[in-house]
Formats: sequence, structure tokens, C-alpha cells
Amino acid sequence: MKNVVLLGSTGSIGTSTVTVANDLPDDIRLVGLAAGGNAELLAGQAREFRPELISIGSPEKADDLRPQLDGIRVASGDEGLIELATLPSANIVLIAIVGTAGLQPALAAIRAGKDIAVASKEILVMAGEIVMAEARKHGVRVLPVDSEHSAIFQCLDGRTPESVRRLILTASGGPFRETPAGQFADITVEQALKHPSWVMGRKITIDSATMFNKGLEMIEARWLFGIPMPRVDVVVHPQSVVHSMVEFVDGSILSQLSTPDMCLPIQYALTCPSRAASERVQTDLAALGRLDFEAPDLAKFPALGQARRAGEVAGTLPAVLNAANEIAVDAFCDGQTSFPGISDAVGQVMDRHELIGQPSLEQILQADAWARETARDVLGLGQPTP
Ligand code: NDP
Repeated sequence: MKNVVLLGSTGSIGTSTVTVANDLPDDIRLVGLAAGGNAELLAGQAREFRPELISIGSPEKADDLRPQLDGIRVASGDEGLIELATLPSANIVLIAIVGTAGLQPALAAIRAGKDIAVASKEILVMAGEIVMAEARKHGVRVLPVDSEHSAIFQCLDGRTPESVRRLILTASGGPFRETPAGQFADITVEQALKHPSWVMGRKITIDSATMFNKGLEMIEARWLFGIPMPRVDVVVHPQSVVHSMVEFVDGSILSQLSTPDMCLPIQYALTCPSRAASERVQTDLAALGRLDFEAPDLAKFPALGQARRAGEVAGTLPAVLNAANEIAVDAFCDGQTSFPGISDAVGQVMDRHELIGQPSLEQILQADAWARETARDVLGLGQPTP
């Protein structure tokens, strides 16, 4: 039985994790839950699972929740996330908060000796070197939740980086794989939010359409598995059945396959190295008939090249790429920039950045703040009031 703290329980990954906990009541106990603003869903989850502690974004919402949830402690804000991440009874903290709010809780959990399961790729993109070094120091595991990284983790099965020739991340190619580049300027938010294979939160769905998601995953893979960026490749695979592959030094390629369902990598992160029996995921290869692969179009999707550059240069540049992209995605969703405007803005912010090669956590957070401000400048948006 694993005692699990789930940060971001009301989101796409969060609700899939709740489904997995329901599937495996003998393996998984939810001892802590955190949400941003969805108090109603969080309260429902708390009534169902009776965790020790829950946390919500604002203190006002926490005050509203307390009288409804007898016997369950209710915290709020960043402090609530840290209290949950270090909850003494927890064995593992699954971080599925969109954006960068999961970074400090991830580090707190590691320092408290807990394994972390990472869905929030921003954590490893921004501060992968620091997070992995802390995990080694405290003897805890950083387990992937992303389906691609879960696939690589399963294929590697403990083998060292020296045995690996290449990691091959698969990408569905998103909704615009076959759209001519000339039509990209007319892409609407509604079109970008229609992903061909996966139902996910808004930010990651837009990132899949621009392929920034795959770019962020390349950087995430680089740190998670200790494989230098030039040995991290991407291949487009529209069916999203092969979740990723490892090519070993002898030329063998291992892959992990299943119909796309996030419950499977979430379950593996929470139960590995055991395999818990579940009927949820069924894959009929004969019905699928074929699996296609093609090279990504780097001209149509500049995000891939930008992410490769950021991952190769490292230092503060991945944090800058990530933060600028977050601002540009919001601007696109609010109708303030076009679809190609997202990559344009990220490129301009990266070009203006003065790199710090071996940054501290504080310098990474400063670079993140600088990139947000600069992206707003580049996009002609106002600065938020402090
Ligand atoms: P969603 O937008 O669906 O959910 C985000 C979650 O984060 C919600 O529970 C939200 O709460 C919570 N949240 C936001 N801000 C805070 C905060 N300050 N404190 C506490 N909770 C907060 O996103 P996804 O589930 O799609 O994605 C989550 C992460 O997982 C992302 O980093 C994404 O890249 C990654 N990921 C997602 C995949 C997917 O299939 N969806 C696949 C692989 C990775 P509320 O709704 O209550 O405001």
C-alpha cells in the first residue's frame, strides 16, 4: 500500500489519478489532495477518500471548506502545498499542477525523503539538474508520469546511460500535422484545443499543437534519464500507441505500447516496480492495423528546434523558454497573438536572454520572472499589477 499525496487533484492528470486510486484500493491510499480553485470538486474528492490534509489556492476558499469537511485538515496557498509535500505519512508525492507552482513542493518532498512522481514537466525543464541532484542526495526516486517518459523508464528498466544510443520520443504531431504552413496564421484557439489522441488540460493541449510539449519533453528526458540532448530524438507517430522507445548501443530498439490512456503511466508511477492487475487498458493491435512513423517538420514547428537549443545550452535558457511559452500560450488563448506568434515570441525572448551557465534555484526563478516580463513586452501586453 502506497500513501500518496496528489497535488493538482482537480485537473486532467489529477482526476485520472483519482480513477487509478479507485481502481486499486489495496495499492493506493490518497492521504493528501491539493487544488487551485475548484473547491467543489476538491470537497467531493475529500469526502470520497477522507485524506488527512487538503489544500486549496486561496485562504477564503479554505475557510469555506473547513465546516463542510469534519475531521480533515484544510490548508491553503503555497504553504499548504509545502505542508502536503512533506506530510509525514506520505510515501510518494504526485505533482500534477500546471505551470511552475509545483517546483518548490517537489524540492520540499525530496528533502523530506519522499519519492516524487512528476507530471508537471515544467519542474524538470526549469530546474532538472537541481531536482535530480537533490533526489540523488536524499536517496529518493523521481518517477515519470508523462506517457513518453514512463515508456522510456519501462524500456530502460534500470540500464545505465552508457548502454543507450538514443532516446526516441514519439509525438502524435498534434492537430496541425497535415495543415500547410501557409494556413498557420489563421489557426483558431478552438482548432488548437482539439487534440487527435489525448484529452488534456488547456495549456498542454496548445503545447501539443505547437509541439512545444514535445520540446519540453525532450528537456525533461535529458534530465530524468541523464542522456545528453543530442541523443534525445523525436519521431512523429500519429496513432500514439508506441509511447516512446530506447535505442541501445547494440542497435536494439525497445518500445512500450498501449492504447493512449494516462491511467496506465500514472498507475505504473504509483506501483512500480510492481505491475498491478487492471482491466482498464486494452490494446487490440489487429484492429489498429498499422503504426506509422515520420520525421517531424522542423520548419513548421520551430518549437522543437528552440527546445533543442535550450536543452543543449542549458543553464537558465530552458526556464526562459518555458516561461516565455506560458505567457505566449495565454496570449494566444486570449486572442492577443496568432498561433505562429507563440514561437516567434519565445524565440525573441530567448535571443534577448543573458545566460547563466550554472544557476542557483534563485537565479532560475529570477530568469523565469524576467522571461515572463520580457514576453509580455515582446507581445505588447501590459505588465500585471504587483
Ligand atoms: P489541468 O489544467 O487539467 O489541471 C491543473 C491542476 O493544477 C488543477 O488541479 C488545478 O486546480 C491545479 N492548480 C493550478 N494552480 C495551482 C496552485 N497554485 N496550487 C494548487 N493546484 C493548482 O492540467 P493537466 O492535468 O493537463 O496537467 C498538469 C501537469 O501535468 C502539466 O504540467 C502538464 O504538462 C502535465 N501533463 C499532463 C498530461 C495530460 O494528459 N493532461 C500528460 C503529461 C503531463 P484547479 O483546477 O482546482 O484550479
